Amino acid sequence: MRPLCYPIVAWCVLAMSVAARAQTPAPDAVWVNGKVVTVDGAFAVHAALAVRDGRVVRTGDTAAIRALAGPRTQVHDLQGRMVLPGLIDSHVHAPAAAVFEFDHEIPPMETVQEVLDYIAARTKVVPEGRWIQVQQVFITRLKESRYPTRAELDRVAPRHPVMFRTGPDSMLNSLGLAKCGFDRNFEVKDGGPGYLEKDANGEPNGLARGLARYIKTGAIGRVPTDAEQRQRLQQLMHDYNRIGFTAVADRGASAESIRHYRALRDAGQLTVRVALSHTFPTVGSLETIKAAIDEIAAHPLRQRDAWLQLIGTKAWLDGGMLTGSAFMSQPWGRNENYGIRDDTYRGVQLIPNDRLLEMVRQVAKHGMQFTAHAQGDAAGATLLDAYEAVNREVPLRALRMGITHSSFMTRETVERAARLGVVLDIQPIWLYLDTRTLVGQFGYDRLRYFQPLRTIAALGGVAGGGSDHMLKIGDLRSINPYNPFLAMWTTLTRRAKWYDGQLHPEEALSRRQAIEFYTRNNAHLLFWENEVGSLEPGKRADFIVVDRDLLTCPDDAVRETRVLETWVEGKRVWTAGG
Ligand SMILES: [Zn+2]
Repeated sequence: MRPLCYPIVAWCVLAMSVAARAQTPAPDAVWVNGKVVTVDGAFAVHAALAVRDGRVVRTGDTAAIRALAGPRTQVHDLQGRMVLPGLIDSHVHAPAAAVFEFDHEIPPMETVQEVLDYIAARTKVVPEGRWIQVQQVFITRLKESRYPTRAELDRVAPRHPVMFRTGPDSMLNSLGLAKCGFDRNFEVKDGGPGYLEKDANGEPNGLARGLARYIKTGAIGRVPTDAEQRQRLQQLMHDYNRIGFTAVADRGASAESIRHYRALRDAGQLTVRVALSHTFPTVGSLETIKAAIDEIAAHPLRQRDAWLQLIGTKAWLDGGMLTGSAFMSQPWGRNENYGIRDDTYRGVQLIPNDRLLEMVRQVAKHGMQFTAHAQGDAAGATLLDAYEAVNREVPLRALRMGITHSSFMTRETVERAARLGVVLDIQPIWLYLDTRTLVGQFGYDRLRYFQPLRTIAALGGVAGGGSDHMLKIGDLRSINPYNPFLAMWTTLTRRAKWYDGQLHPEEALSRRQAIEFYTRNNAHLLFWENEVGSLEPGKRADFIVVDRDLLTCPDDAVRETRVLETWVEGKRVWTAGG
């Protein structure tokens, strides 16, 4: 039988493959004569790209890709320009950022005087007795590197409670302290973190550390309706597209913010893919906390979806590096500006070890990614301890547990993270904005493993770039600025604002690594590596066309990069041509 059958089978296979080829539809569009940086495993660069049904069909040389075109295929001539996979930001807070200036535009503040001027101006608009708020103007980014004092706030706003908030810490004026019940006898009674800074006489000096839950300020002015909130969110997504983003991770999603994302997705109005890390209460009984985690695990958005997907949970483990409260392995050192007078002070740990372990265990049990804000090197080590312990019960590698920020590391924590497959969500823009203050506080040598991006890559770890965009729309005026090319430039040069020289240039990335940091690596962080992050057959056609060659232009030209076009799933969502 065999000799007879074999030729028949061979003929059939041949006929089928010819037929299949004849039926393979032509691409919807091809891009030719360019420099298509695929960011595949080999970092291959080709001249052309073909897309059908929103997915990449093939990359290759111009002749080969042109040959695929049919009569209805659109042909785009790139004229030598560079194409990159759509960029991904691993850390934003888009819904809140989008409406932060809904009531009024908030000016940039770079000095204590500008802060006081803004508050003084608000006293003329805000009714007496109502809160005036200044959010996330980090003192490390003020020329004076200090908080406005309680007395200064009282002077400009004697009849309004005032909160100047940075991260978990707030400076309040006298009326603000009184409104919160913060006096010399105040004690934390809910088992949660936090304390009041006191002056030499035992009076609160205005600085409330980790006590945000006691400060009920209400909204800043007019509150947007659902429709207004969504319109602003869409506007922000459009701005993300303009600067090259096609996907982001919301690292602080709530039921409320998810409602808005869902409405946009259901209306087909999302132009940026959104992965969600859901927050949950970390204060209160463990039973309540576990129940909250169980509820998140049952959320319908846990289903695979390349537009909107809930990937895990987010908690806050320590204070901030911009507020003198990151949890460090060595004492912070005295600093009047931060209000640190205790030589042994190492920052603030917001979740005790045993409770952290229970939370990680519960999230892991549901197969979700746990991540926590952990700035200081001790916070990172504490989180890794919890991951290591749970890893003995549930293998964690596939769950890609995270360390959010992970600014201060040690060689040891880099190694431990790589070993456990723990991924790092890091903000280069902080290196750019905060190096001056951090070197002043810690000295150059103690910052050896500050955002140690090259060491992470060398030791087999995975880090992705994020902005922690939380306030305002606008890539350079926002807090934090979300321009990815300024961030890439920072990773290449380790140069910073108001600072001469470079911060440990031995940790600088190569061009290839800097591009991977905002594409491929982040796709891994967000569990979308089979969908986006590189331009390979079968993946979604999310890509950008930029105005320069990011592999060969001078270092300083990188930060000036302009995006000419942004395409998401084969559809153009932004063009510089209007
Ligand atoms: Zn954040």
